[in-house]
Amino acid sequence: MTQIANIAVCLPLEKTFNYVVPETMKDSIQIGMRVLVPFSGRKVTGFVIGLMDQSPKEFEGELKEIEAILDEAPLIDHQMLRLYQWISDYYIYPLGEVIKTGIPPGLQLKSRWFVSLTQYGKEAIMSGDIDPVRKRVLEEIKNYQKIPLEKILKIFKNEISRSQIFTLKKKGLINLEVGIEGEGVKPRIEKVIKYENEGSLRESSKKQKDILNWIKERGEVFYSELTKIFKSPSRSIQSLKEKGYISIYEKEVPREIKIRPELKAYPRPKLTPFQEQAFGEILKGIRSRRFSPFLIYGVTGSGKTELYLRAIEEVINSRREAIVLVPEISLTPQLISRFRDRFGDIFALLHSGLSRAERYDQWRKIWKGEVKIAIGPRSAVFAPFKNLGIIVVDEEHDPSYKQEDKLKYNARDVAIVRAKQQQATLILGSATPSLESYHNALKGRFKLLHLPERIEGRPLPNVEIVDMKKEPGIISEKLKLGLKENVEQKRQSLLFLNRRGFANFILCPDCGYTFKCPNCSVTLTYHLRERRLKCHYCDYWIQTPGDCPQCQGHRLRAMGMGTERVEEEIKRIFPGCSVGRMDRDTTSRKNSHVSILERLESGKIDILIGTQMIVKGHDFPNVTFVGVISADTALHFPDFRSAERTFQILTQVAGRAGRGVFSGEVLIQTFNPEHYSIKKAKEQDFLGFYNEEIKFRRALNYPPFSRLINFRLTGNSEKKTMLAAKEMEKIGEDLLKNDFSKGIEILGPSMAPFAKIKGKYRWQMLVKGEDPKSLHKFAFGLADRLKPLLKGKGVNLDIDVDPIFIL
Ligand code: ADP
Ligand code: ZN
Repeated sequence: MTQIANIAVCLPLEKTFNYVVPETMKDSIQIGMRVLVPFSGRKVTGFVIGLMDQSPKEFEGELKEIEAILDEAPLIDHQMLRLYQWISDYYIYPLGEVIKTGIPPGLQLKSRWFVSLTQYGKEAIMSGDIDPVRKRVLEEIKNYQKIPLEKILKIFKNEISRSQIFTLKKKGLINLEVGIEGEGVKPRIEKVIKYENEGSLRESSKKQKDILNWIKERGEVFYSELTKIFKSPSRSIQSLKEKGYISIYEKEVPREIKIRPELKAYPRPKLTPFQEQAFGEILKGIRSRRFSPFLIYGVTGSGKTELYLRAIEEVINSRREAIVLVPEISLTPQLISRFRDRFGDIFALLHSGLSRAERYDQWRKIWKGEVKIAIGPRSAVFAPFKNLGIIVVDEEHDPSYKQEDKLKYNARDVAIVRAKQQQATLILGSATPSLESYHNALKGRFKLLHLPERIEGRPLPNVEIVDMKKEPGIISEKLKLGLKENVEQKRQSLLFLNRRGFANFILCPDCGYTFKCPNCSVTLTYHLRERRLKCHYCDYWIQTPGDCPQCQGHRLRAMGMGTERVEEEIKRIFPGCSVGRMDRDTTSRKNSHVSILERLESGKIDILIGTQMIVKGHDFPNVTFVGVISADTALHFPDFRSAERTFQILTQVAGRAGRGVFSGEVLIQTFNPEHYSIKKAKEQDFLGFYNEEIKFRRALNYPPFSRLINFRLTGNSEKKTMLAAKEMEKIGEDLLKNDFSKGIEILGPSMAPFAKIKGKYRWQMLVKGEDPKSLHKFAFGLADRLKPLLKGKGVNLDIDVDPIFIL
């Protein structure tokens, strides 16, 4: 029998491939390990996803052999493999690439040669029947179990060549095998010195005695600590070790990560009756050890997080593990310290601010079973726990759970599938659930838990709307007044505008010229402080010119507004106030967003202006006034979710006010005071909004009543991209004739609302259907026929299942 391994290679290929497992690897190979395999003249990494025995004849001469095994233990287990397989099928993305998304980037590999000595080699050293240089090389190799080839070549630089080493292998004196290294990332190993016994210490110097005493007091110390206290201790240490007073070993020490939780105590409160009731249901779910999905719908400050903490506590006590997904931006020191206060240091943090090495260490802690909880944004859904008991998805409606490039997965949906596969509890939480999730809850797919009140009966803020059609400036009189009163009472205010920069665009009133990005179909945004016109979709920028390049007119005018302009305006109106700004421009440095929040918390900022970033996850009791500069930024996007987005964001912003003992005031400026998403946000009436919005979705057969797949073509050539779209249209119409296409509806293809981004022209075709299986069939059929036609044309097909960003 020959053992055959099925391999998902890390290449954009839909298929998996079979390879022969060489005799020498049979004992060590396991599903979930990485291997190196030959692939059209190259060597690539892949994952073993299946092993089977076949009679040798069937494959003789056809299949290539696996070149090397790259892991000592499998990186993914059967459960994770099953999840990755589902993701690959559902999101129509190659399995090898899916797995790569799930493991930290530091584990992506570089292979190199390692040398070790064979039995024959050992004998050759003894027999002396070998020339002196080679003998020394073999002796050096003998000192290690395995040593990188490069290292040997360095040690014997002028004495032995690479090809001579390969000759040693041919003669059977050494083994050469491919090993791997994560791109520079390895576990951090520290030398540890352990106190053993005192002995007589007679022959020891004073320095040795001092060192030994110091170690004795501590039992065990890191060598690196020791060197801070004693100058060049290595000889003394060596001598102490030889006498047996101490022992030295190595230990893996994860790198410290930098979000520093505050050391504040968060008392474990007695649950309110609403919490108590909800928690009873959750407990039943956890204890059933079956898939138990919940949707907690509760206004901000109603005690959802407290319920997550309790549920996780129960899961950990039953020796299972927990994943907590939060939007990137709400992963604040405040949240972390709440977890730390409750659970101590048994969690791993995974977020994009970590360096590769830090992320790698956090992942390893989970993989090795050293922690019980993983907290992070969407990629934390892949945390390799083996006994998963619960997944919490906070702010489940948040669009950041959807990855927009490469593998276009939605972590909330992957969480649902993972919890189902592993018979775990699932909690989705939000003050403004997505239409999909709330609809699912009403249909009985999730159990709905409702927390209708803020904790301690704190009132919801009072929200008012200002109709900007009657206002001349960007800051209405009412907003000025509200800010003024709040400032006078020494309380803090937030101002929200979901657009950064100073002005949206620059216009020449004489000839109508506007500055556009040459790579993207958008206008350039004016940034005052940098004196630049910048594109928000690519890296393009120019210095702001003084005159119109078209008519040489001198009257260039800044139109529209961004956070930078609001900041200017507010500083002008309130000269004595300390004004801060938080947006992508002021937070590009690592941890700068944390430091702005700290300044707000310590009262150093009176008025903070910001984009989305200020909306989530923070709990500042002294913030009692919130102003929305414009509620309309998201409303007019040509996207069926624009009303939902608007409602969610306004409700979230409003929820920032009055979280402490003082009640809050919210002012929303808008040109559309009659729009239901704004009116319902004013009333903070999620159900009212849901009932309006769901009518519209049903009428137009949009999600949650249908599913969508978006097929997007992108290419450098405008013409070729358009021609490809015509081909796509033909194939699509043809596929509609199939039986499985019943109920499927095609919208487009048409030029995307953002017709060009980063130099690529974009066309898209949206396909709608009720049955996900037939939609997928349609998608496979389309890809199968379209992809060959795109070869060599520089046009790319992207398939986005359950798209969020359809612009
Ligand atoms: P949410 O996640 O819904 O915004 P939190 O769980 O953060 O709500 O609760 C809001 C505030 O109320 C927090 O400061 C929290 O510590 C506190 N809190 C939560 N539950 C209780 C309770 N049962 N009794 C007293 N305070 C509570
Ligand atoms: Zn651009």
